[in-house]
Amino acid sequence: MFYESTRGGLGSITSAEAIMRGIAPDGGLFVPETRVRLTPAQIEQLVNMSYQERAEAILKHYIDDYTEEEIKESINSAYSEKKFGCREIAPVYRLNDNISILELWHGPTCAFKDMALQILPHLLVKAVKKTGETGEMVILAATSGDTGKAALEGFRDVDGTRIIVFFPQDGVSEVQKLQMITQEGRNVNSIAVEGNFDDAQTGVKEIFTDRELSEEMEKNGFKFSSANSINWGRLVPQIVYYFSAYADLVGRGEIKLGDKVNFVVPTGNFGNILAAYYAMEMGLPVNRLICASNENNVLTDFINTGTYNRKRDFKKTLSPSMDILISSNLERLLYEVTGHNSKMVAGWMEKLSRTGEYTVDEDTKKKISKIFWADYSNDSETLKTIECIYNENNYVIDTHTAVGIDVYDKYVISTGDFTKTVIVSTASPFKFNHSVVRALFGEEEVKGKSEFELLDILSQKCGIPIPNGLQGLDRKEIRHNKVCRKSEMKDQVKSILSI
Ligand SMILES: *Cc1c(COP(=O)(O)O)cnc(C)c1O
Repeated sequence: MFYESTRGGLGSITSAEAIMRGIAPDGGLFVPETRVRLTPAQIEQLVNMSYQERAEAILKHYIDDYTEEEIKESINSAYSEKKFGCREIAPVYRLNDNISILELWHGPTCAFKDMALQILPHLLVKAVKKTGETGEMVILAATSGDTGKAALEGFRDVDGTRIIVFFPQDGVSEVQKLQMITQEGRNVNSIAVEGNFDDAQTGVKEIFTDRELSEEMEKNGFKFSSANSINWGRLVPQIVYYFSAYADLVGRGEIKLGDKVNFVVPTGNFGNILAAYYAMEMGLPVNRLICASNENNVLTDFINTGTYNRKRDFKKTLSPSMDILISSNLERLLYEVTGHNSKMVAGWMEKLSRTGEYTVDEDTKKKISKIFWADYSNDSETLKTIECIYNENNYVIDTHTAVGIDVYDKYVISTGDFTKTVIVSTASPFKFNHSVVRALFGEEEVKGKSEFELLDILSQKCGIPIPNGLQGLDRKEIRHNKVCRKSEMKDQVKSILSI
């Protein structure tokens, strides 16, 4: 399998090179040049496999320049029962006859980002070796909260790598911030940026495409790569759990092989749901992909009207990991549905960066709305959904997952479609405990309490244990306390690398 840029500037590179580069030199994203198809028999074989075996069965098609040994080693280092606290890695919880919940937050940092960021460092280090690269890899990441910690944890003390994470100073929760500023490891840095996630993400993209800096880096033996979902190495591991969930439903007799299901995905940067799209293109029987947003509903509008318009106020919501107005991975979807038309895609992206909006042609719009259905949930609907699911099902969900369930309810009302549905649950309720406790037990219960007291309260009241990764966070030493402006991000990087 070879990869090419969505903007046409580079093609026919191996997966190792795509993973190492992160983003294409023309500012585009790497995508597979050809389509992978699994037969129904191959999907059936997944039913009796472990998560690790399923991962191998999917990944080997996309990263076929890695040896079987290299793939196995990466998978086994990433997805261990020890790290995920459960054998299934990505368990499917049956909420009722119609709805199952795909729990993607059992990893070390309690959000779905671990599914990709536990394996990415292994793929990247092997990529460096395979391509004969000699420099030290410098991983840059912008984070709306969850990627940062997951990337720091994934790359900590990995030889031949350094990692620098930028997070919006006031855009992350107390738990998320502490997770990042207390990070241990000899090769890790986290820096607060004055601004929102989009500022951090744009800043990182600018650093990546800065020719002069990249030459200077090379002279000093450094090479940039990305831990954001613009990196194909983050996307490809996410395809696995869609197949895994489907195989679990078949295995339990909830559906028959070949039956279609819906997936509901709480969406920000469009990475998670794009992996679902690739799974569908590979032959996974999918009826509809439901794109759930919060009040930063730029994707809802895009999918419903064909116009992407980021010129609107950025809202801070109770689902902060989805507070995003520029969904990078949409570019990959556009490339796929236009039949790999890099000219069109580059044109839209240029228009977006110049004017803040673009409109796709009627044909592209139709193709997208045939597959995707989109709506959004505001904060009060999100809180109500958390309460409702707990009262009716005795099951505790976080705010992002609640956005998904609320949007799914809207979908059912609007379409009358009762196809079996999998809701993708992207974070542990403990990670956003302030909102969860408030939703379940009222405003009084959270008043004047820190997120750390609330961990205990949530645990005691609901009878569920606090995840390992969140215990004792408030007693850890603060190791990173830098704050910078967006315009200073490049200098921060240079100063960390002493160049
Ligand atoms: C990152 C994140 C999302 C959004 O995922 P994308 O791939 O960016 O669309 C949703 N929920 C949580 C908890 C996240 O951390």
